[in-house]
Amino acid sequence: MKIICIGRNYIDHAKELNNPVPSEPLFFLKPDSAILPKRNPFYIPNFTNIVHYEVELIIKICKLGKNINENFANTYYNEIGLGIDFTARDLQDKCKEKGHPWEIAKAFDQSAVVSANFIDKKNLNLNNINFSLKKNGEIVQQGNSSNMLFNFDEIIAHVSKFMTLKIGDLIFTGTPAGVGKVNIGDELIGYLEDEQAFKTKIK
Ligand code: ZN
Repeated sequence: MKIICIGRNYIDHAKELNNPVPSEPLFFLKPDSAILPKRNPFYIPNFTNIVHYEVELIIKICKLGKNINENFANTYYNEIGLGIDFTARDLQDKCKEKGHPWEIAKAFDQSAVVSANFIDKKNLNLNNINFSLKKNGEIVQQGNSSNMLFNFDEIIAHVSKFMTLKIGDLIFTGTPAGVGKVNIGDELIGYLEDEQAFKTKIK
């Protein structure tokens, strides 16, 4: 399986990093080796000094598809989860400066937290999903799917123009404002609606 991540999908987050707002979905990949095994802590890698958390809604693909029409895109996913797109921001800034790919900043081992449970989309209003991230008991990020620049269906239509989506692929749909640095000893807890979706300790 592969992990596709959408960048700059919330205007307030694009602005906090002084990035332009994209005119079509911007995406990059993480390999399956990026998934943080369930209940494992996240160890800050030694090649970076600034790892940021980015809490994001995740779409789980349930049907093989290519060149998917936006009107049928909602038949390609049944479940929504929550995760973190850990980002080595110092490395990403260097990559951006040089026009290099982002993989060393985005695709490293353990950089993808994926919730143990996904919620059936029938139990959600897809245009009004609340999610948040608490760091050490304090809310640091709060989002709602209504604030996405590109909704789930638009994302699926766009990405599948370029690559086949397979059963089990995950799409991280972008992060709202409030990203920040993690430090050893931090505890991150993600909430999808009112349910705790994951808890990750930083070591
Ligand atoms: Zn992200």
